Parts: sequence; C-alpha cells; structure tokens
Amino acid sequence: MRGGIDLGGTKIQAAVVDAKGNVGGESRHPTPTSGGPADVAEAMATAMREAAEAAGVETGELEGVGVGSPGDADERTGVVSGAKNLPGWDGSFPLGKTLQEGLGAPVRVGNDVQVATEAEFELGAGREFSTLIGVFWGTGVGGGLIIDGKPWLGRGAAGEIGHVVVKRGGAKCPCGRKGCLEAYAGRVAMEAEARRLHEEGHKTDLFKLMEKHGKPRLTSGIWERALDHGDKLAESLIDRAVEALGTGVASAVNLLDPEAVILGGGLGVRFGERLMKPLTDEMGKHLFVDERPPAVRVASLGDLGGAIGASLLFS
Ligand SMILES: [Zn+2]
Repeated sequence: MRGGIDLGGTKIQAAVVDAKGNVGGESRHPTPTSGGPADVAEAMATAMREAAEAAGVETGELEGVGVGSPGDADERTGVVSGAKNLPGWDGSFPLGKTLQEGLGAPVRVGNDVQVATEAEFELGAGREFSTLIGVFWGTGVGGGLIIDGKPWLGRGAAGEIGHVVVKRGGAKCPCGRKGCLEAYAGRVAMEAEARRLHEEGHKTDLFKLMEKHGKPRLTSGIWERALDHGDKLAESLIDRAVEALGTGVASAVNLLDPEAVILGGGLGVRFGERLMKPLTDEMGKHLFVDERPPAVRVASLGDLGGAIGASLLFS
C-alpha cells in the first residue's frame, strides 16, 4: 500500500492506493487559506492519517507517500518553491522532509499536473495510448506530457500549456504575461472577468448562486448551475474559455502530434462531455493536419486522479 496526496489550491486530497491503483481509503481537507507552508503540511499530514485509518493501516506501514504539488517541486530534494496559490508560499519549503517526519514513511514530491497525467496514462483514460497531452482545466490550466510512453519534463518546466499564447497582446494572465490560454480559461481569470463585467452592469446570477450555495468563489459547480439556468454572461465566458482551449490545445497538437488529449481538472471533468463537440470543433479550425485529429478523452480517474498519480511516485 502507498499513500498519495494531491495538494491543490482549494483542497487537499489524500488516498491510500494499492499496486493496481485501487483506492483503499481517502480523505479530503480544505487547503488552509492563511498561515504558511508549515500549516499546509500539517493539514496534508492530517488528511493522510485519516485516509490511512480508513484503509486500516498506519502511515508508518505505507511503502511511501507521494505528493503532487503545485509550484516548482524538486523531485530530488522534496523542496517546493513558489507555490503562489498557497498561503505564504512564495519562497522554498522542505515539504518532503517535513511530511516524512510527521508520517513516519518515505515521501516523494512531484509536480501535481505531471503526476495526474501519469495516472491517466497508467490507469485511466490514456491507457491505450503511448503519446498524449494531459490538459487540466481548473483554477489555472496545467499540462503534462507523455511521449513514447515516458513522461517528458524538459528541463523541469515542460507542459505549461496554460501559458501557450492564444492571443498576442491579449488578456492579462495570472502569471503576469498577456494573452495566455489561462488568461481566458483558468477559473481564477474567468471569475475576475465575470466580476469585472458584473460591476460594469452586465446581468448575471453567478455571484448570487455563489452566495446562495455558500461558496467563497465561482466553483465549477456554480458555473454549471449558471449554464443550466441559461445565464448569458456565464455562457459567453465559457464559450470564450472553450475557444481559447481549442486554440491552445490545437497549437500543442500541431507541435507534438500526440495520439490523444486527456482533459482533466475541476472544469474539465465537469464540462468535458458537455463541451466536447464545441471544443473539438474549435480545435479542428487550427489543426494543420485535420484529417486525423487526436482522440480527446475526459480524464477517468476524476477527483482522485491527482492523489492516485502521486502514489505512483512509489511504483
Ligand atoms: Zn500566463
């Protein structure tokens, strides 16, 4: 049995996973919104202990605990730097070492999106392919690459599909640059644009729905409710996101010619099937070789994909 922890900007998901990828126990905690890296590590250790308890094991009995982390995660040292969507995490923190002491098991730290891509490749929607792009559409837009059956990390920063430019001089991206895919499709950027338009006087129920359901932000569930109600502003922002996704993903496909694109992430999993046709239509406009487009599949491991992928750091 191995542990896997997916450290996200909004939640921490922990799971105990066997060698075949079956989940024996899981636990979920909100990511602390204040404090610093040590508080986040504490919440991660608590979630892992609960998942272990649910699986009937002690964390010290686990073969190891893998972590999928945002920011710059150094696999060799377990140090995570510049995880800017986590509280007080602008600098470096020895996440691997801290968790290892707290859990009594070896810990390995990897990039969150890359481990989720590897999980889909090994156990999920990408099993039948040898070259694929994982696109994780959520808070931001992350990407992971498998080329000829092997993860492609470049010099450590490959797969940043969210920062492929879809419009020169375009909308401001949370990364500080302009015109990135994430500036149009990332949940944070979409919420900022919705707020701006709402304040300008455009009608929308998005923020009413957010309050009614007690959410601190426009979650994928709130976007879905708004679409179901025919909210025009929500529709136009989702259309804009799909247009940007189709453009950016098609550009990546033109470069790599993969067999498949696996669409995951909070928004990707929720809207993948619903928006598959407009997304593939939009991609089709930009594919240089358009007679044999890659398969586009929705990630099949769902919410647990990140934690399962993290556990694979010990396979
Ligand atoms: Zn960017």
